[in-house]
This record gives sequence, structure tokens and C-alpha cells, in this order.
Amino acid sequence: MESDMSGMRFSTALIHGGVYEDGGTGAVNVPIYQTSTYAQENIGGSPKWEYTRTGNPTRAALESLIAALEEGSAGFAFASGLAAETAVLSLFASGDHILLSENVYGGTFRLMDKVFRNFGITFSLADTTNPGAFEAAFTPATKAILIESPANPLLTVTDIAAAADIAHRHGATVIVDNTFMTPYLQRPLTLGADIVLHSATKYLGGHSDLVAGLVAVRDASLAERLAFIQNSTGGVLAPFDSFLLIRGIRTLAVRMDRHTRNAEKIARHLAAHPAVKKVYYPGLESAPGYEVQRRQAKNGGAMVSFELAPERDIRKFFPALRVVTLAESLGGVESLVCHPATMTHAAIPKETREAIGITDGLIRLSVGIEDADDLIADLDAAIEKTA
Ligand SMILES: *Cc1c(COP(=O)(O)O)cnc(C)c1O
Repeated sequence: MESDMSGMRFSTALIHGGVYEDGGTGAVNVPIYQTSTYAQENIGGSPKWEYTRTGNPTRAALESLIAALEEGSAGFAFASGLAAETAVLSLFASGDHILLSENVYGGTFRLMDKVFRNFGITFSLADTTNPGAFEAAFTPATKAILIESPANPLLTVTDIAAAADIAHRHGATVIVDNTFMTPYLQRPLTLGADIVLHSATKYLGGHSDLVAGLVAVRDASLAERLAFIQNSTGGVLAPFDSFLLIRGIRTLAVRMDRHTRNAEKIARHLAAHPAVKKVYYPGLESAPGYEVQRRQAKNGGAMVSFELAPERDIRKFFPALRVVTLAESLGGVESLVCHPATMTHAAIPKETREAIGITDGLIRLSVGIEDADDLIADLDAAIEKTA
């Protein structure tokens, strides 16, 4: 029996949501149902559990948890964020056109450009932060928009409610990648989105120890179509990883509170640092997206990008770090740093990169939950070395 989450506040739903009661042991945690199949009483019935690709109690607990946290009616768990996106994009057909926000995750761009394009689904990039430019990008074939806000790595903010209004006027489905915010900070379904998706590898898992994707929707017919696609294409999350992800989600609120408190402190420190040319953080009053961010999210999140002054030698920065780790990914308890120009955005030609602000001096920081003063001391010492 899935517990009823209606009426619970968010932090309570994090702990008590998605519980699957396993007939009488009283286990307070969801067991790992490490099984591929289930015994049936007789032929001709319609058993609740049939085969684990189709349904598994551990995964089902996670799926009802993400549905509740995103204020949706149904949730779906996948083997990665990109497997979740693949399932969502499988809702569309040859001849359909999809609009992506300009700064989408590189893997999303690659999936559209190198995979779905082969199936006749076309796409274009639009500046979703500018409603005029965004609306002009719609074509009669546009069936969906895919937005990230704040977007990677410059933390640009899109007004999700305004974008959803425009898209719905054009009859397009609104998909929001909520990876950077999590439902604790921002709930796109309540802002007009039709589908919210996550790389749960990041903040939802929270410990850099698993790869997973989640989707939540409100509309019952959309839920039915996604359940069909999930079972037909099969990129489901395994029972053990579903368990790990539930375990990660339980502490989301306390982790995010510390992540964002640290991020705000670091962003303010860097903004006042003489060797830092620019700080990108939507929680700073000076950020262009600050007002929209404040309206649609709880705070600015915990991703901070900054640009060192051009005379600084960035190659000396990374090896000098002792607490912060140079690595891909984000959202774990440990602070991670990356160099978008040579890592996440290396595939984009230099001129295009520089034109959109991803300069060679840009550094992206995923602020962890360590002591903020240790992080600041580590960053300062490494910046010192670039002189
Ligand atoms: C990491 C990431 C993805 C892809 O997720 P995986 O779990 O790595 O497949 C998608 N969107 C965003 C914003 C991401 O950061």
C-alpha cells in the first residue's frame, strides 16, 4: 500500500513519502525487491506485479515519492537522466519540432542532434530568457519546448510560467529539466509545465554514488503514455539504485539548505574578490534573473560560476585546490569544480562559446555541504596561485 501524502508539508513528505509497506515486518525503510519476476496465482489474472521492467515495489515507492514531491500524479524512474529524457522525447514523432532553451545540458543537445534527428524529429535552440525571441522561434511543427532554469553553466533564468503560457498558446508540451533546483527549491508543474524531469544523479541522489533519472507529470493520459514507453523501451532504474535514491532524497531539504547557504556566502565572497571578473549566481541581487528566480524558486540554488580576470593563469587554479575536487557532475555533498571550456562545453567551437559567455576563464562550482569558510579559504588559496 502506498502511503497517502496529501496534506503533508514538503519536509515531512521527503521522509514519509513513497513508503511501501511489505506485509507485516514493520520495516521502516523500503526493502530492496531484488527480483526480476513474481509468482502468479493462475493464468488469466491481472497481477499487480508481473515483471520488474514493468513494475517493481522498490522502484514504485521511489516513483510515488517523486510524483508527490513535484506535486504530480505519476512518477517514473530511469537508469539515468538521459534515459529519462529519451523516454520523454519518445512521446514525439517524425515531423515534430522541439524548441530547446539555448543553454541546455550538452547531453540533451547531443541526444536531439545525433539520435532523435535520425528519427525525423527536428529541433532548434531559442533564448527562453527573452519571451519575444522565444515566441518567434515557434513553427507550426513545434510540439514541445524543453527548458532548464537556471541553465548550465551561466545560471541564466527563464520565467517558466511565462514560457509555458507562450508554449501552450502554440499547442506545445512544456518539459522542464529541474536538475539544478530539485523540487525542494522549484516545482515546475505548479508553474504550468506538463513534464518535469531530473538527472537524479545530482542533488536528488546527492552523494555522487549513483546514476539515475526521474520524471513526474500531472495529466493522466500523459502518465499512461509514459508508462507505456517506460515499459516498451525499458531504461528502468534497478531496485538497488531505487533504494539508494530514496535514501538520498530523504535528506534533500537539510542538504539543500546547507548547499545554498554555502553557495550564497561563496558567491558574495567571490563577487568582492579583486581577481574575479564576474560571478554568475541567480541568488545575487545584481544577477539579471534575480527577480524571476525569487518569484519561481525558493532561492538561487547551489551552483556558482565565476570568471577569473583575464591576466590570471587559470591552469594554476585547479591543481592548487585541496578541498574542492576537479570533476564532471554536480550536486553531491562534496564540492566539485569544472572548467566548462575544456570539459562540459568542449564540443562547442571557441568563437560560439566566447559569444555566449563561456570564456576560457570561466569556472563552474558545485558548492557542497562542507564548512563554507574552509571552501572559501581553499578557493582563495588557489586564486592566489594564478597571479
Ligand atoms: C547530468 C545532467 C543530465 C543528464 O543526466 P545523467 O544522469 O548524467 O544521464 C541532464 N540534465 C542536466 C541539467 C544535468 O546536469
